[in-house]
Amino acid sequence: MVIDQQSKKIQCGYCQAENNISPFASVVTCEFCGTPNELLTGKTFQNHHMLSVYFSGSELTELIPQYLSKFVGVPSDFADKAIFKEFELRMMPFWVFNFHGYTEYHGIGKFCTPVHSGHWNRTINTGNRPERGSIDLDQTCLIFGYKEQYKEIRDEKIPVGSKDAFDINAVNREGGRIYDTEIGYEEAYSFAEAQVKNRHNQLIYREIHKVDGIRQDIQMKEVSYLHVPFYRVGYSYGNWDGEALVDAARGKVLRAEYPVSRAHRFWGLFAVLFAAAIIVGAIILIISLPTWQIAGYVAAAIFGGLLIFGLKETFTKKKVAAE
Ligand SMILES: [Zn+2]
Repeated sequence: MVIDQQSKKIQCGYCQAENNISPFASVVTCEFCGTPNELLTGKTFQNHHMLSVYFSGSELTELIPQYLSKFVGVPSDFADKAIFKEFELRMMPFWVFNFHGYTEYHGIGKFCTPVHSGHWNRTINTGNRPERGSIDLDQTCLIFGYKEQYKEIRDEKIPVGSKDAFDINAVNREGGRIYDTEIGYEEAYSFAEAQVKNRHNQLIYREIHKVDGIRQDIQMKEVSYLHVPFYRVGYSYGNWDGEALVDAARGKVLRAEYPVSRAHRFWGLFAVLFAAAIIVGAIILIISLPTWQIAGYVAAAIFGGLLIFGLKETFTKKKVAAE
């Protein structure tokens, strides 16, 4: 691999084709052969996988209105009137690590002995005693390739069991764009290893409360660079525009924007007028009947809340549905 920092281009270590380096990327997946090149070390990764695209086009135009139908305030004719305009397939980067971890530990654990001192009362003695044990665990860790961006994707449970070998032709056929990780291999490895150690610690402290000695052997069995397909879908409803994000491997909508229906806005406006009338009444009460002042202030405060709620519902044009 040859990196030319000046022109922000690299030559693929496998097929020698020239690729652009996108800002912040620590890996560049060759757009011609699909081989990932690591910028820091100049190495290429052999273990590159993807989840295949099972949902696209017309399926997305059904999935999104279906998902939105559960949310309050979505126009009832949204499914009929929404026009789907943009389908952008993004192949998002993950690191997948398989670890085998073995920990032997010894320390102090608690134990309980019930003491029978009569028919009706019973006391429980807790004591400490030395304990030892071991943990033997296979574990898969998934590290999302971005630190700050695309948060809605990072928290997804990705079914890594169904992964296929990465196929650049399949991605191109679907018109997918490849996004590369900003977290390099070394950094991802240390995140994953920390996850494994944490898990072992949790299990140890479930058994004992003080650790006196520990012997740990954590080995990485396999690592893979994984691309998972997501669709960004753009749509309009009258002159309103919005977008949604869909997991294209499982057909799951992660988030979808929607316009607030006219009926919902009407009720918002109704709340505004109703609250305004009561507040005016309360002000008159405060001024003209001093003995009723406190009741007037309380009413004004309560209906002030309703007024703000109503204003929000009346003038919000866009909401986001996400679970
Ligand atoms: Zn290449």
